Amino acid sequence: MSNRFDCAVVGAGVMGCSVALFLARGGMRVVLLDSGPICRQASGVNAGTLTMQMTRAALIPYAMRAWEMWMRAPEWLDGGDVAARLRPGLSVAFTPGEAAMLEERARVRREAGAPIEVIDAARAVAIEPSLNPAVLMAGFCPIDGFASAYLTGRAFRPALLAAGVDLREGNAVHDVSPGFVLRTAHEPVHAARVVLAGGVWLEPMAAWFGVKLRIKTLINQLVVTERLPPVMRSVLGVASGLLSLKQFDNGTVLVGGGWQGIGDRDTGPVAVKPENLLGNIRLAVHTIPALRDARMVRSWLGLEAETDDALPAIGRLPGVPDVWTIGSAHSGYTSGPYFGKLLAHAILGEEPELPLFPIDRLLVREAA
Ligand SMILES: Cc1cc2nc3c(=O)[nH]c(=O)nc-3n(C[C@H](O)[C@H](O)[C@H](O)COP(=O)(O)OP(=O)(O)OC[C@H]3O[C@@H](n4cnc5c(N)ncnc54)[C@H](O)[C@@H]3O)c2cc1C
Repeated sequence: MSNRFDCAVVGAGVMGCSVALFLARGGMRVVLLDSGPICRQASGVNAGTLTMQMTRAALIPYAMRAWEMWMRAPEWLDGGDVAARLRPGLSVAFTPGEAAMLEERARVRREAGAPIEVIDAARAVAIEPSLNPAVLMAGFCPIDGFASAYLTGRAFRPALLAAGVDLREGNAVHDVSPGFVLRTAHEPVHAARVVLAGGVWLEPMAAWFGVKLRIKTLINQLVVTERLPPVMRSVLGVASGLLSLKQFDNGTVLVGGGWQGIGDRDTGPVAVKPENLLGNIRLAVHTIPALRDARMVRSWLGLEAETDDALPAIGRLPGVPDVWTIGSAHSGYTSGPYFGKLLAHAILGEEPELPLFPIDRLLVREAA
């Protein structure tokens, strides 16, 4: 019996951990397997922004529910904490092009339910006094914030174990045969259902079942400063999406954004691209001039999955009964716990509160 489960979840990032947790709490016998430690890929190295302003409009209802979950994480993670902080969110524009983009993005997100308003420069500087006064306008969301992503695994682990999830780290799944039998370097695992939660590795996982999906890999880079006296009190982004900035309780400022590293998910290695990091740092200093003399102490990168339409892959694997996928969500850390809960409810046979995201649209169809 010890290797037979109601459900095997492959991938212990925020998506896999959440779905495993809520399946186990719903009464299923669950095994959660990861090739490495829990939450050490995207879910443990991301920028931790819990944001409506960078979330796709279609995902706002999900992100709002997930934001609530993060802010109350100790309540549903048995005391587990990711140090979530509520901060005002500002998405700023320095150029007319960014201003036009900002107004449009604020409008569609507001229509989707996010409490975002467009404010003038004076109000933006009143909210964030360190902001470069050359700012033209800002999108303001009172319910943004951040968490410390590196705490994610530590926060989930005790809750998973308490719920009875059999957590197997350092346990890469090599393939799955019908039935289902999951082949690992250790003894095979048998499960009646499988959830694929592999982040950027969702594409090779789907191939175990003969399904070809197209999942892109973003190589996101981050840089963190030394500990500084308080220099900012908001979560800041630039409308173009090329910058995110926040200051943690310990004084460090995390600089993130869309600037990409180099490499390839499958052939590797992936690496930080210094000239792109420099662009990121210059934009950070332009946005918060007080960062000019701050020393950068560390940079790193992480791999983020993205679909062609930037909407998640959450639903049944087409043509393969009892196999589901979860992942590839834009701002997926923000929405992760709610997506996991939603999919768990669907697998448990309950009517999901919000629709899933069927993945037929992501199938790669062979030419005749
Ligand atoms: C640098 C960076 C910054 C980001 N910043 C933000 C942000 O500020 N806000 C936000 O909302 N989102 C952010 N994101 C996006 C967010 O981190 C991801 O959307 C989210 O963490 C994805 O979670 P996941 O569980 O799908 O994937 P992952 O966390 O990558 O988990 C997938 C897991 O699958 C495991 N795995 C892979 N293959 C196998 C196998 N064969 N067998 C067993 N296990 C396997 C991996 O080891 C990994 O642990 C950022 C992403 C990156 C990379």
